[in-house]
Amino acid sequence: MLRLGIMGGTFDPIHYGHLVAAEMARTEFALDKVLFIPNGVSPHKMRREITDAQTRYRMVEMAIRDNPEFTISRIEIERTGPSYAVDTLKELRQLYPHHALYFITGMDALQEIFDWHKAKEILELTEFIAATRPGYESRDFLLKIASEYPQFLPKIHLLEVPALAISSTDIRQRVARGQSIRYLLPKEAYTYILTAKLYLPQADCE
Ligand code: NAP
Repeated sequence: MLRLGIMGGTFDPIHYGHLVAAEMARTEFALDKVLFIPNGVSPHKMRREITDAQTRYRMVEMAIRDNPEFTISRIEIERTGPSYAVDTLKELRQLYPHHALYFITGMDALQEIFDWHKAKEILELTEFIAATRPGYESRDFLLKIASEYPQFLPKIHLLEVPALAISSTDIRQRVARGQSIRYLLPKEAYTYILTAKLYLPQADCE
């Protein structure tokens, strides 16, 4: 059976941690390709200002251009309302009837799955590859899965990704403080952030 990696995230901005995680997942889980899906309106992010979807999409597009195994989808940014993973997975199930689905995302995000819309249905539709930062303690999360959804435990795979020491939050904060973000993300995305004056404090954007 073919295997599709689904790289879901806000990607505000995409960075080398995401790219290394996707590539490690692709090779270690024998994925035929990895589909990056920048989310539109994240269900859990109503508080922070998120960069508009088209801009985040552009940065992902630039960052993955040189990898023929990576591709990008507008499936979530074109849907109105919150980007529920269950809707995306159902759509992908139709589009890729012969693929096993592997949803790749950060463990920090996945550990909130108990609050995600239709969590049980999600776990029926896909396997998960949870990318962790070095030293991440996943025992409590796995115990909770084992107690609430024991049948799904074999569908959750952990992947330690040292490059995830890089984070989007840190990149945004560095830009706001006037610090360098060079080498934390692909050059095209880096240049785009500087040119479009993303992540600057409001007064500096005017
Ligand atoms: P987030 O809260 O922005 O991120 C949580 C943590 O996970 C951060 O440390 C983040 O690092 C990391 N992360 C996020 N995506 C990653 C990825 N693809 N690879 C490696 N690390 C990643 O999470 P989010 O971006 O909003 O959501 C992640 C995914 O879960 C999205 O596909 C989203 O649609 C889905 N989700 C679905 C529901 C739902 O259906 N109700 C609810 C929440 C999330 P960085 O900040 O460095 O990326």
